[in-house]
Amino acid sequence: MKCVRCDNDRFVEKQDAVVEQEFRGELLKVHAPAMACAKCGWVTVGLRQLDTLRRCTADAYREKHGLLTSAQIKGCRRLLKMSQREFAAFLGVGEASVKRWETWLVQEKSSDGLIRMKCEKECSERLAREDAAPAWIECEHPAVEAADGITIQESPSANGLDPSKWNLQTDLPQEGKDTPAESTYDTTDTTFSHAA
Ligand SMILES: [Zn+2]
Repeated sequence: MKCVRCDNDRFVEKQDAVVEQEFRGELLKVHAPAMACAKCGWVTVGLRQLDTLRRCTADAYREKHGLLTSAQIKGCRRLLKMSQREFAAFLGVGEASVKRWETWLVQEKSSDGLIRMKCEKECSERLAREDAAPAWIECEHPAVEAADGITIQESPSANGLDPSKWNLQTDLPQEGKDTPAESTYDTTDTTFSHAA
């Protein structure tokens, strides 16, 4: 690879380069990894960076048009703890669509609305059903030991704390840093107070 501007052949990878891309008739400034000439800074995209550039370009377009980005769509799916297949069935679309939306394909406005509406509805239904938000069931925070030995995850609302204000680092037990002790953290068998 040679620099078209200065004929130099040494390039360095730049993680957050700004690459101009034309997409659907619009010129977008896309932040993506690229190769920069070590001498003059001229930026070009390497073959291995093309897939990422494609996704970043689609995301720049989505952001500009108020659509969910690839990461946000993935985030919605993970919040509902669904696989791509499950999420596709939940939305009533093909699994391939979900896979593409989570990467380079810009979803139609109608699909975007569908994802938002169905995810919001499902979240609030789960909330009503379990009296607990799916978002914080996943997060680890101090559990209280019930009299019969069942571990109950204490709801953030129960102790008047906003889940976003939880300081997970200081609230976590220090034993084994990444793997909380099993006796106090049982996320697979969570029992809620009203069910106990
Ligand atoms: Zn150069």
